Amino acid sequence: MTPNPTLEPSLESWVPIPDGSDFPVQNLPFGVFSNTDGTRCGIAIGDAIVDLAVTHERGLLDGLGLPVDVFAASTLNRYFALGNPTWQRVRTRLSHLLTDDTAGLADVADSALVTRADVSMHLPVAVGDFVDFYSSIHHATNVGRMFRPDDEPLLPNWRQLPVAYHGRASTISVSGTALRRPDGQLPRPDGPVFGPTEKLDFELEMAFVTGPANDGKPIPVEIAENTIFGLALLNDWSARDVQAWEYRPLGPFNAKSFATSMAPWIVQLEALAHARVPLSDQEPTPLPHLATPNKGGFDIALSVDLNGTRVSDSNFRHMYWSMAQQLAHLTSNGTAINPGDVYGSGTISGPTPDSLGCLLEITHNGAEPITLADGSQRSFLLDGDEVLIRGHSGDSGAPRIGFGEVRTTIRP
Ligand code: CA
Repeated sequence: MTPNPTLEPSLESWVPIPDGSDFPVQNLPFGVFSNTDGTRCGIAIGDAIVDLAVTHERGLLDGLGLPVDVFAASTLNRYFALGNPTWQRVRTRLSHLLTDDTAGLADVADSALVTRADVSMHLPVAVGDFVDFYSSIHHATNVGRMFRPDDEPLLPNWRQLPVAYHGRASTISVSGTALRRPDGQLPRPDGPVFGPTEKLDFELEMAFVTGPANDGKPIPVEIAENTIFGLALLNDWSARDVQAWEYRPLGPFNAKSFATSMAPWIVQLEALAHARVPLSDQEPTPLPHLATPNKGGFDIALSVDLNGTRVSDSNFRHMYWSMAQQLAHLTSNGTAINPGDVYGSGTISGPTPDSLGCLLEITHNGAEPITLADGSQRSFLLDGDEVLIRGHSGDSGAPRIGFGEVRTTIRP
């Protein structure tokens, strides 16, 4: 690993960082916030946010090739379009500004630093396209067994390509946005009925967000990570009864398109250098356009709490296909990608019963309900339930790189 000065565990900021914070000075995740002064881009540090619009306006980001007003914006799309060399330069400068109290930012802290508790967070990107992969082998195997009990759980294509579908960008919302239980066609022995889903489920996922457009050119797997800005937590809601009825032959439609919840903070890939782990071996060896010696995975601990009861402890390292392979496969036919596009990993399930990423698996499609701390039971989600997803790397002594949270309440 190339030593990265912005990740030095000994770095300390002049901004106070509470113990256990998701956002030490080694993290520097990007988001979009608003207060009475308007909507701007910022980075999280401890319990504060650095207002990047003010920081830029004061000349503290000069010389980095940034357009005027790139951060005085309601999305990060223009910034992500600038590409990896710029992202690295900006991260290095921000690290310097936050660790050296004589570098200029501390002098303007009154206007450039805001308290996180005092602002509203927004979806950090205008999402042009949303793709949802299906790249956890444990999840795909478990679901295959439930939905197609008489067949091999993994279809023949699964180990040859990262299976995915094109999702619905218009219904991605930021953490904190309530979820209305959707209506749909529900299968019954005598034919379907239309009504509120009875099998509302969460899906524990991570999403990566892309930078510069590819202008319709395939992105080689070896350099695909250069196009990825970073990662955010994602909850990809599902209506399992609707899904089981509609998904053949073309895949999910209404069962998935009604809502997807995303964390407000996008962690730059560069901040996760310490979290890199090899993914498990791929068998058979992928075709040349997906073959890469760097099957890059990330050790990111993930959890799901339902009304305060922990129902899953998973990890992003359980993926079978890497993000680079997903992006290389997606663009291998010349499809266009753009800054701010969002790519879900698919439900991230581990190999053990306590690491399953959705209720469909945890309760065996409702057959084995779980008991929550208050004594109540759940097969699927009820109105009023709150689902909380969190994640962080850094359990092994490296700085804690946290992802904040995705918190959602179910409404009727
Ligand atoms: Ca999904």
